[in-house]
Amino acid sequence: MANPKKHHTASRRDKRRAHWKRLTLPGFSKCLQCGTLHIPHRVCPGCGFYNGQLVVAIEAKKGKGDEGSSR
Ligand SMILES: [Zn+2]
Repeated sequence: MANPKKHHTASRRDKRRAHWKRLTLPGFSKCLQCGTLHIPHRVCPGCGFYNGQLVVAIEAKKGKGDEGSSR
């Protein structure tokens, strides 16, 4: 059985436990335009920008929106 060889101090233990929560989720990056999280190297779903230029026009929510969305 694996046993700890040396005693770890409470300071060392607490410093380790202080870092369990990450500030940003892994595998996401922040959009330069609107600041929302999006998948890297993909068009931002919030504003439709990629690499600083508009690629996909995101429709406003006040439009028809009847197709396909029945929630
Ligand atoms: Zn964006």
